[in-house]
Amino acid sequence: MASLQGKSVLVLGGSRGIGAAIVRRFAADGATVTFTYAGSKDAAEQLAGETGTTAVLTDSADRDAVIARVRNSGPLDVLVVNAGVAMVGDPLEMDADAVDRMIRINVQAPYHAAVEAARRMPEGGRIVVIGSNVGDHVGFPGIAAYSLTKSAVQGMVRGLARDFGPRGITVNAVQPGPVDTDMNPADGPLKDLLYGKMVLQRHGRPEEIAGLVAWLAGPEAGFATGGMHTIDGGFNA
Ligand code: NDP
Repeated sequence: MASLQGKSVLVLGGSRGIGAAIVRRFAADGATVTFTYAGSKDAAEQLAGETGTTAVLTDSADRDAVIARVRNSGPLDVLVVNAGVAMVGDPLEMDADAVDRMIRINVQAPYHAAVEAARRMPEGGRIVVIGSNVGDHVGFPGIAAYSLTKSAVQGMVRGLARDFGPRGITVNAVQPGPVDTDMNPADGPLKDLLYGKMVLQRHGRPEEIAGLVAWLAGPEAGFATGGMHTIDGGFNA
């Protein structure tokens, strides 16, 4: 039997990149998967058709829409919060509204989604939030605002693990390093800067991140909670 057979899973931000790999992996492992998208309708519908999953429009910048989506999808066995945006540049030049929107997507949405999911999540439930290795180590300039969002994920995961642990619900962060997606393409301008910090001289593949998420959601990970699971090619070593 597949390891997530019969499990009800919601992935926030599943249309592209790491999120799409998570959707594919969970569907292959037997779960019933719903995933959200915001801007990539065509990609979302194509992925849903290929995998037998359900794509729904929900903007993670809209707190109440996120809460309603989680409520209407429950009770969930697994919640994965993957939706995220990254801003790179001089903080003195960044648009304040865009920074605040990033904080809504990367911090506010994961917190409220996790709390809402936990209301009806059964014992054995799993909450996984995609953070980043920069939550631990900001290796270069230009990512202060993004890094603050991923460090905030760490506090929420540690705290909610303590809040929901007594009910048998685990809460973990997965912290990727550079992964080859639209957000951080392997042939992009940051390549030399990133590889200068990394043990493994390559970007990660979305499927490698999805494998760790699937393990955390699966039957072997019941003892793992409140953890920051870094998978970064040795960037932070
Ligand atoms: P991509 O930009 O390739 O994909 C982002 C995904 O998030 C898309 O499916 C997108 O959907 C969704 N998304 C973005 N904004 C919203 C929104 N407002 N509402 C709903 N969904 C949204 O990024 P990655 O796959 O690379 O990143 C996924 C996660 O991994 C993020 O949290 C990111 O911070 C984190 N991460 C990525 C790293 C990397 O190097 N790639 C490294 C470390 C962490 P749509 O297009 O439909 O809007």
